[in-house]
Amino acid sequence: MAKKWVYLSSTAEKDLTKTLGHKPALDEAKVILGGKGAGLATMTGAGLPVPPAFTITTEACIKYMNSGEFPEGMWDQTLEALGEIEKQTGKNFGDPKNPLLVSVRSGARVSMPGMMDTVLNLGLNDETRVALAKLSGDEWFSYDAYRRFITMFSDIVMDYSREHFEEKLQELKDKEGVKLDPEVSLEGMKGLVAEYKRMYKDHFGTGFPTDPLEQLRLSIKAVFNSWSGARAIAYREHEGIPHDWGTAVNVQTMVFGNLGEKSGTGVAFTRDPATGETELYGEYLENAQGEDVVAGIRTPMKIAQLNEVMPDIYKQFSAVAKQLEDHYRDMQDMEFTVEQGKLWMLQTRTGKRTAAAAVKIAVDLAQEGTISKEEAVLRVRPHEVDQLLHPFFDPQEKQKAAERGDLIAEALNASPGAATGGVVFDAEEARKLGGEGKAVILVRPETAPDDVPGMLASKGVLTQHGGMTSHAAVVARGSNLPGVVGCESIRVDLQRKQFTVQATGRAVKEGDIISIDGGAGEVFWGAIPTVEVDYEKQTDLVELLGWADEFRTLGVRTNADLPHDARRAREFGAEGIGLCRTEHMFFDPRARDAVVRMILAETDGERQAALTEMLPIQEKDFEGVFEAMDGLPVIMRLIDPPMHEFLPPREELIEEVAKLRCTDPKSKELSEKEKMLQVVNSLWEVNPMMGLRGCRAGIMYKGLTEMQTRAYFQAACRCSKRGIKVKAEVMIPLVCHVNELRLEREKLEAVAKQVMKEEGVEVEHMFGTMIEVPRAALTATEIAKHAQFFSFGTNDLTQMTFGFSRDDAEGKFLLTYIEGVDTGETDQEGNPIRFQILAQNPFQTLDQEGVGRLVRMCTQEGRAANPDLEVGICGEHGGDPASIKFCHDVGLNYVSCSPYRVPVARIAAAQAKLLESK
Ligand code: PEP
Ligand code: MG
Repeated sequence: MAKKWVYLSSTAEKDLTKTLGHKPALDEAKVILGGKGAGLATMTGAGLPVPPAFTITTEACIKYMNSGEFPEGMWDQTLEALGEIEKQTGKNFGDPKNPLLVSVRSGARVSMPGMMDTVLNLGLNDETRVALAKLSGDEWFSYDAYRRFITMFSDIVMDYSREHFEEKLQELKDKEGVKLDPEVSLEGMKGLVAEYKRMYKDHFGTGFPTDPLEQLRLSIKAVFNSWSGARAIAYREHEGIPHDWGTAVNVQTMVFGNLGEKSGTGVAFTRDPATGETELYGEYLENAQGEDVVAGIRTPMKIAQLNEVMPDIYKQFSAVAKQLEDHYRDMQDMEFTVEQGKLWMLQTRTGKRTAAAAVKIAVDLAQEGTISKEEAVLRVRPHEVDQLLHPFFDPQEKQKAAERGDLIAEALNASPGAATGGVVFDAEEARKLGGEGKAVILVRPETAPDDVPGMLASKGVLTQHGGMTSHAAVVARGSNLPGVVGCESIRVDLQRKQFTVQATGRAVKEGDIISIDGGAGEVFWGAIPTVEVDYEKQTDLVELLGWADEFRTLGVRTNADLPHDARRAREFGAEGIGLCRTEHMFFDPRARDAVVRMILAETDGERQAALTEMLPIQEKDFEGVFEAMDGLPVIMRLIDPPMHEFLPPREELIEEVAKLRCTDPKSKELSEKEKMLQVVNSLWEVNPMMGLRGCRAGIMYKGLTEMQTRAYFQAACRCSKRGIKVKAEVMIPLVCHVNELRLEREKLEAVAKQVMKEEGVEVEHMFGTMIEVPRAALTATEIAKHAQFFSFGTNDLTQMTFGFSRDDAEGKFLLTYIEGVDTGETDQEGNPIRFQILAQNPFQTLDQEGVGRLVRMCTQEGRAANPDLEVGICGEHGGDPASIKFCHDVGLNYVSCSPYRVPVARIAAAQAKLLESK
């Protein structure tokens, strides 16, 4: 039997069953007929009023793309299908008495706005136009239909822009002194059609094609070719749609919504796509064709008003909408036409919706019994959950700002959320102004721990340098502060208190208002109105997350350093703290002096005295965290960063000392600064990220990690005595050799025991390690014998596995690796060909082949050596949906992420489990 290239909508379901050997599932039908074709087949099969149609398959498109010819048998089958439509309608293609007119549309598996639009009224020529005039009783209408056809065909099929034709129409309207198309005179329309044909001939050297079959053949080719158009390719690349899917072609009998008062055209959703409310939502335009709605010249009525104008049609349409939603079990986006009082359905597809609507619709459909809770959880994309947790810019206002040219820079989308405020370059100034209630955006070359209070008092943060795991990015995400980082297209000048946009030279000065979109990585000049969100009020989201928890097997913890972050994370559903970065407590102004003295100490006695001062401050914060988590595990990571981070920046000191040597050589200030510089110099390292940090610092600085462990266990014991349940877990960072772990663990376990003895209470506790250094992962068997848990610190593990400095790579070369390196060659359309080295940013989404391999291997070998080993992840990847899926598949016990990513992680973990069986 010959290959089937063409399917009639009226028999498609039966024919597909024959082709496939079973009744087609919706997705299977879409693969063959495209989304639009599958929709037409379903609607026709369900007995809905659909103008007779046929669909040429996506596979035919691929064959055509490969050979430049229609595949064998396709054109014959097209003619045969056309014959069937002629029978069904009683009209004939090209018939000068009763002509069949058709529309031709593309239709890929998923809707692709980058592709070909629709050609309407195909089949018109001078003769069939006369017949159309007679049959409709409206000569003006026939000319209008003809001029629309010439415009669309020239534009879409022949690539002769519609603007040339629109211009002539406008000239005509101006000449006749009218505003709207329908007001143009009959004589005017006639003249316009003649003019259009002349233009076509002048442009192409041949007359406008009058043979309807030739029109059809060219249109089908144009649809096929549009699959390989630059716009379509760009769209597919952006959306990750494979290039070998191809598009189907839908040929459908024309019905006319522009045949008078009782005709019209409409677009409607079965539910409100903005809010998700269960009510028909859409528009209807009387006496119009679809393109008139798009053109926006006349204002359509709300779909509910159709009930007043044509109650019977409204009732029928409502019933059809309900039937379609029930059939597809999802919100539908439908196009329809009313031709002289008769309803025709032209298209149905799953409707696009906002994040809020996606959640509400999924929950409502499950509660109505249309879909299961599992399906509801799978219907919402994790990034949509993310959107609902952060303020965002009013989309229209943002669009307007972009159109005004106010989008001044784009960089890394480090922390979602939208913020507007006055630019401030100094963290201390930001803290002051923020404290006075002023909205400020802190702009820095990069941030350091000292800047944290200023960051937290700001509405958002923008940095010139740094990547997705830079200090600014991590703090912003942890504090729900909108953040854009690594913005190398600006130059921050702290001296002159301004930043310059390199491309335009525009200077943005202190106090100037800017807006940043941390979810998109965009920086705008001026203020953009912001929409606030409130988690507690989002009852549908809370419900959906509850369902997600029923399905997921992967735990979700949070990275939280301070009590209020821990409380927030718990409200979001965190099941413990997977990472408490204790160094943040060291920046507490109350501990600051003692921390510096501890580093500067020249004797054990001096150091111990400083540590004794630091202890109660640490302990107080730990108590707050245990209280917030009441009964849930809390992993306290011992101090990790290099010590110089707690001291003034070296460059600044050098400058100050040089100045003071000239201006005040005998001052006390100079001798203090010189002493500080000496210490800073002694701590200075070429590669501090690979230097004296993590457990190495714990080993080298006597008493430091002992103090932290004492503070932690004192807090645990004292909370326990107050009736708070505690699960204390101590994590030793940056281990590369088992002996480091053995040494630290033994020392700290002794402290823990001692404290519990002193306090007269035992608390549940564990000692474990971070896996951040490849050598640790490679020697998991040894390390697991001395650890009760592993937690993958994938920020460092990525840095060290790739050999990419996490603070520099994204700003220097990594984004070029992802966008593609210019090869110096160009494609057929003259666009530069880029060679992509990395498909995605490994600091954002876990690199499964490399870093992931270490994670998998280390987990397996660690568990083999120690079957009770608990394994989690606490790098930034713990909040990334794709990485969460990987963690689930590898069998980790939990992921840990910043508080505002906890809901996203809950959904992503549930989806990973639900998709496991598929
Ligand atoms: C990590 O390296 O993944 C980690 C969580 O530690 P930090 O980011 O604090 O170095
Ligand atoms: Mg680390």
